[in-house]
Amino acid sequence: MQKTILHLDLDTFFVSVERLLHSELRNKPLLVGGTSDRGVVAACSYETRGFGVHSGMPMKMARELCPEAVVIRGNAGTYTKHSELVTEIIREKVPLFEKSSIDEFYADLSGMDRFFGCYQYASELRKTITRETGLPISFGLSVNKVVSKVATNEAKPNNQLKIDLGYEKPFLAPLSIKKIPMVGDKTYQTLRNLGIRQVKTIQEMPMDIMQRVLGANGELIWKRANGVDHSPVIPFHERKSISTERTFDKDTIDVVRLKGILVAMTENLAFQLRRGEKLTACISVKIRYSDFNTYSKQLRIPYTSADHILIPRILELFNTLYNRRLLVRLVGIRFSNLVPGNYQINLFEDTEEALNLYAAMDKIRERFGDKSVLRAAGMGAKTIGRMQNPFNGQPPVVLAHRKQ
Ligand SMILES: [Mg+2]
Repeated sequence: MQKTILHLDLDTFFVSVERLLHSELRNKPLLVGGTSDRGVVAACSYETRGFGVHSGMPMKMARELCPEAVVIRGNAGTYTKHSELVTEIIREKVPLFEKSSIDEFYADLSGMDRFFGCYQYASELRKTITRETGLPISFGLSVNKVVSKVATNEAKPNNQLKIDLGYEKPFLAPLSIKKIPMVGDKTYQTLRNLGIRQVKTIQEMPMDIMQRVLGANGELIWKRANGVDHSPVIPFHERKSISTERTFDKDTIDVVRLKGILVAMTENLAFQLRRGEKLTACISVKIRYSDFNTYSKQLRIPYTSADHILIPRILELFNTLYNRRLLVRLVGIRFSNLVPGNYQINLFEDTEEALNLYAAMDKIRERFGDKSVLRAAGMGAKTIGRMQNPFNGQPPVVLAHRKQ
C-alpha cells in the first residue's frame, strides 16, 4: 500500500518561543544560547543567517558577525513545555505519530484519504497548532519520511509543501546535496571534491559508485537522493525508557553508599542517553525496603542528557522518597519520556568547555568501558555493569538486575 507521511517542524523553535513570550523581540535579529564568552549558539533567527550565523557556533563569533543581534540565554524548561503543548495537539489529531526531536514530528496518514484529503488534514493540523500555541510550524507531505523532511525544509519558514506521488525525483533533483538528510559536512566535502553539487548528479550515477566512495552510507544516500525510503513512523508511545536497579545481598541503611550508587547509575544511564542521542524529560527513583514494600517517585524535567543536571534531581528524589528508617533492599532509577536529540538543548546552560568535557569523557568510556571515568561520588559503587548501546533497535531495555 502507498504511504502518506507527514513531517512537521517548528520554525526556529527556541527563537519562536522567546518571541511569543517577549513580543518586543519580533522581527529583530535574535541569538539564543550561552551568553558567556565561551557560550554556544543554540538557535538563531532568520535575520541573523544572512550574516553567516548558524547554530552550534561560538556565541562570541556570532556576536562579531551580527553585532546588532539581541542575545538571550535560553531556558530548557520553557522549551520543553511548549514542545509538549504541540505534542498534545498532534496526539489528539493523529493516531500514529513519531516525535523525532523536541521540535519535529512525523505522522503516518496512510489510508486517511478515504475520509478526508491528507493534505487538507495536514493543513488544518498546522493551522490548529499555530492558533493554539502561537508558534509557526511548517510541514512536508509525501510518500516517505525523507522526502517529506526535505519538503518541510524547502517550505520553511511558516509554510507547507506537498510532493505528489511520482514527483519525488524531480523535486529533489535541483537541490543541493547538502539538503539530503544525513549528508553532513564531511560527506558534503567528499562529494564536492568529486564535483557533485546537485542531487540530480547522484540520481544519474549508478549506486555502486556511491558505495565505493562512501561505503555503506553511500547506498543510503543514493537511495535518499532518489526519493527512496521505507523507514517506518515509530509510534511515540512506544518510545523506550532506560532503567537500572541494584539489589543488595545484605540490606543496607548506609545513605552515603546508597547515594554513591545512585550517582554512578545516573552517570551510566546519562552516558547511554548521549550515546544514543536521546534526551529524557522524566526521571524516577525506586526504593524497596527490607519488608519488600516498594516506593517510587518521578519528576518531570526539561529535556536533558547531562549528568550535572540529572544527578542533583535524582538525589533530590531519593531524599524525598527515603523516609522510613528501614533497611533498603533495592534502589533503581529510570529515565523515560525519551526523545531523540543531541546535547544542543543544554547549550545555553553550558560553555563549550563543558560540552567538550562530556565528549571527551564519553570517548574514553566508548574505548575503555563504562566505568573508566567516574565521578568521585560514585566510585564506591561496584559493578554497575557494562551495557550495550540500548538504542540500536533491540527490544526494550531493562538493564541487568545485578547483585552486589
Ligand atoms: Mg525546527
